[in-house]
Amino acid sequence: MVQLRTAISIGEAIKRVMTDTKNQPTETIDLIQCANLFLAEDLIANEHVPAFDRALYDGYAIRFEDTMEATKTNPIVFELIGEIGAGFIFSSTVNAFQAVRIMTGAEIPASCNAVIMLEDVEQFTEDHVQKIRITQVVSNGERVFTKGTEIRQGACIASKGTQINPGVIGLLATFGFHQVNVRKKPIVGILATGSELLEVDEPLLPGKIRNSNSYMLLSQVVQAGGEAVYLGKLEDDLEKSIQVIQEALQRVDILVTTGGVSVGDYDYLPAIYERLGATVLFNKIAMRPGSVTTVAKLAEQYLVGLSGNPSASFIGFELFVRPLIRKRLGNPYPHLLSAQAMLADDYPNPNNFTQLIRTKCVFENGHIVVASNGLNMSNAITSIAGADALAILHPTQTGYQKGEMIDILLLSAEKGQKHSVFGGDEDA
Ligand code: AMP
Ligand code: MG
Repeated sequence: MVQLRTAISIGEAIKRVMTDTKNQPTETIDLIQCANLFLAEDLIANEHVPAFDRALYDGYAIRFEDTMEATKTNPIVFELIGEIGAGFIFSSTVNAFQAVRIMTGAEIPASCNAVIMLEDVEQFTEDHVQKIRITQVVSNGERVFTKGTEIRQGACIASKGTQINPGVIGLLATFGFHQVNVRKKPIVGILATGSELLEVDEPLLPGKIRNSNSYMLLSQVVQAGGEAVYLGKLEDDLEKSIQVIQEALQRVDILVTTGGVSVGDYDYLPAIYERLGATVLFNKIAMRPGSVTTVAKLAEQYLVGLSGNPSASFIGFELFVRPLIRKRLGNPYPHLLSAQAMLADDYPNPNNFTQLIRTKCVFENGHIVVASNGLNMSNAITSIAGADALAILHPTQTGYQKGEMIDILLLSAEKGQKHSVFGGDEDA
């Protein structure tokens, strides 16, 4: 007998997943290895940036007050008393109407307070003395990057949970953080199920297909910030599957399976969750594709059963597994970033479930406009590559018309958002 399942909303499903409170343990690693990891603590500036007053351009360091009378018709002559390249300092006093030739990044001599650019000055020799002629007024602090103007010592430069992107790496290096306290990646195992599956290096055989989901999901895990582990594929065989899954659970924090989660004759995942004693958080969601997406929990481990259909599996991961991984990494913005967009196509058919359409985005007349990126079917594979966003079509009796504004989820925005656009996890 087919077991009846009750569909819950996407927001409710997200809420149930996000009740998770486990934080990944932390570790200290070398700066050179921390790209894309997540900070385990707030980073506090241990110095001012810049740490000293620096020249912003190649030019001459002077005292601005000496230029007050300078005009084209009344040039002021300064004596050139030295030069400084970046990395060097000039420790003698610079007196009135004296200048020091200075290169970008070098420290301004203590008695100077402005820089005039090379191209604004005429340099000449008179009586074997180097001099410059200034024909314009220079203001106090002009072309000087003053100590502490960018970051004050003690300021928070990046908060814990931030993903370490190239900009954050630049900051870490600036402050000399050559060792960084980060969260260890959660280990996410990917296991495909289905007797029809071939490995990617096998030639096609009658009735068979290649296991594309596993490889797609492995890369989604990496993109989300997890450690991806390929666990192979399973025949549709209950006893063998239980054994393999039990072994897999020795190795992973989150086990993602694809296929076998529906109510077909060879869909064994529901029976496997029962035999393992896992608590099923939900097994039906009012969404298309991916309504059979199931999430179960065994102590702190998650078992995520995604549909075998490639588009459903891709979307199920992005909605439920990505935020789980990122929450465990302490990231405060675990969900996909949402935006408003205008539909470029009609979707005339009413639907009781929320549809998620793989779309391409263009920017037109001040709006993001989203057009279908190909076959809108759960078993489609081609519509995923090249999709910029998932368009969200909430249940409707009337369908949607071209030109309507809807919410979208951006698939490649590095920074996500705090709360899911579907609601539900505000208190999680
Ligand atoms: P299932 O969820 O097991 O009923 O599978 C749904 C559809 O997805 C079937 O057409 C399967 O052949 C296909 N499918 C299942 N697993 C994979 C996979 N790993 N890669 C590509 N397609 C798959
Ligand atoms: Mg199957």
